Amino acid sequence: MDFDRARARLVELFGAEIRDKRVLTAIAKIPRELFIPENLQPCAYDDRPLGIGFGQTISQPFIVALMTQALDLKGPEKVLEIGTGSGYQAAILAELAESVYSVERIPELAESARNVLHRLGYSNVNIKVAGEEMGWKEFAPYDAIVVTAAAPVIHNDFVEQLTVGGRLVIPVGSRWEQELIKLTRGENKNHIDKLGGCRFVPLIGKDAWEE
Ligand code: SAH
Repeated sequence: MDFDRARARLVELFGAEIRDKRVLTAIAKIPRELFIPENLQPCAYDDRPLGIGFGQTISQPFIVALMTQALDLKGPEKVLEIGTGSGYQAAILAELAESVYSVERIPELAESARNVLHRLGYSNVNIKVAGEEMGWKEFAPYDAIVVTAAAPVIHNDFVEQLTVGGRLVIPVGSRWEQELIKLTRGENKNHIDKLGGCRFVPLIGKDAWEE
């Protein structure tokens, strides 16, 4: 299988909705096949989510591109990701921002994400296993936060961990379908943009879903 060609073709298929050249370059560079189980590698560049074990998924590449584009990263940002999963989205963020903090509930996924990111040479990604708190307050505030699991509401804990001007991208809705929301934190008032429908695995924990 020619992964390099398949990767280039995937980016071509994204079309006009993904305009951020840096996002396209990152997706064209990062080997998605290394973030999934070996038996699924022939499907690595299908534009769909794939199982990564423990009932979790690596997100659809187009949705990864759309969410990342909405974060408006230029290079110097500190970014938080909720739901490390395979580590693929974290690798994209590592290409586009200065430092990445990522939180994952399932210790085995956190560990394998750490391993693949280390193997690929990313030294600006910090991963921790989620505890009781939502997010990662120790290193807040963040210029951008991406939540890669479905939330029932726009969680205030995340908004509070943003800088003024910071962007939160989060799928909000029911356990089965959600709308992608971009919230930009304002001095007094936050601004909301809606980016379209999506389907994520549930965010588990305080004011979110039960396991
Ligand atoms: N961004 C991932 C996709 C993650 S799927 C990737 O690129 O592969 C969503 C992940 O969120 C799952 O691994 C799940 O275990 C994790 N998750 C669910 N609730 C969480 C919480 N409260 N804190 C951190 N991670 C959570």
